[in-house]
Amino acid sequence: MKVFKFGGASVKDAESVRNIGKILSNYSNEKLVIVVSAMGKMTNAFEWLINSYCYSPNKLKHSLNEIVDFHNKILWDLFPDKSHKVYSEINDFLFQLEEELEVSYANKYTKNFDKTYDSLAGYGELMSTTIISNYLNNSGILSTWVDVRTLIKTNSDYREAKVDWDASKMKINELKEESIIVTQGFIGSDSDNKMTTLGREGSDFSAAILGYCLDAESVTIWKDVAGVLNADPKYYPEATKIDKMSYREALELSYYGATVIHPKTIKPLENKEIPLYVKSFLNHEGEGTVVQKLTTFDALLPSYIFIEDQILVSISTKDFSFIAEDNMSFIFGALSKAKLKVNLIQNSALSLSLCFKNDEKKVAQFFHSIKDSFLARYNENVTLLTIRHYSEDVIDNMTKDKQIYLEQKTRNTARFILK
Ligand code: ASP
Ligand code: MG
Repeated sequence: MKVFKFGGASVKDAESVRNIGKILSNYSNEKLVIVVSAMGKMTNAFEWLINSYCYSPNKLKHSLNEIVDFHNKILWDLFPDKSHKVYSEINDFLFQLEEELEVSYANKYTKNFDKTYDSLAGYGELMSTTIISNYLNNSGILSTWVDVRTLIKTNSDYREAKVDWDASKMKINELKEESIIVTQGFIGSDSDNKMTTLGREGSDFSAAILGYCLDAESVTIWKDVAGVLNADPKYYPEATKIDKMSYREALELSYYGATVIHPKTIKPLENKEIPLYVKSFLNHEGEGTVVQKLTTFDALLPSYIFIEDQILVSISTKDFSFIAEDNMSFIFGALSKAKLKVNLIQNSALSLSLCFKNDEKKVAQFFHSIKDSFLARYNENVTLLTIRHYSEDVIDNMTKDKQIYLEQKTRNTARFILK
């Protein structure tokens, strides 16, 4: 059994759905579990819908129409026969979605944004998988659509639900041995069977959960890049593919912000030594990258990870006292309440420097909660650059013409806050 994951970019229009059919025709004798994200940028569209629903109901109709129109366009292209059952299946989901919108109001879910979010955001995945499964069946690749909410069980930490591994394992093991299963990424359900989400970009993790519980032979993430590159070509045009890497290196890269693999994906696969392939859906014959247990060391090609739109905050006490453990514990408590994820920390006797994403609302909440005891100075619009396996030449080259606000080095990793 192999697990394949197709992200939004690989199912962004009718043509890309056809392309999935082409890729799968090379695996006709395999048992596959296919995990699919919402089409294109639909999860963003759902976020707009949820935002209008909770904060500006006058925009609700418009945001809903955008979602409906997007899917209709793809449906008309892939299924010229308007009596095809896919139309009524998609309509059922739209009906449920509208019902959910009303139920949420009745229950005053809008007071609980995260709960409302999770009851709505996953419809993108429910619809994309319905379209793909029907398309495959139409083109002779027989597949079974499975509702992943019956398989992946979670707690009720809405928008960041934690997997209940024992319950999920039990459900996933009941899965019938179909030759091709099409199911959703990103979502699960809690003990009340309410839909939950695993966090943005969570479909890679869904694939890893299924791979782990099924003892899959491998997990493959199909991307619009040739594999894991040593940098994002947007920032570093000479980026090259890394053919092989250890779980550890993949985890480090994703932890530092490389977006090609979701950070939570690696652990379950490492635990069972299931190889993870990252391959291109545009050039599906290509070798891609394999992440696996390495008996040799990783090839020490420098890797570059850029994270933009960061804010660098320096926090000091108002009374010239040390930034000691009790202060730090207070500050980190405030960060956690504001749901800010810190990307870099550095401290001195009198100040604590922190770098995180400059998310206006969360940052304002954080500043508000520390303002009585601390002074905060900050620089906005800075970039956090991480270089794995650096050399001084590489550093000089990457930081020339830039102002360096802060730097940190360990044996393998150098990090810079730049402007
Ligand atoms: N559709 C979800 C998102 O865009 C999950 C995913 O694609 O991984 O965040
Ligand atoms: Mg994605």
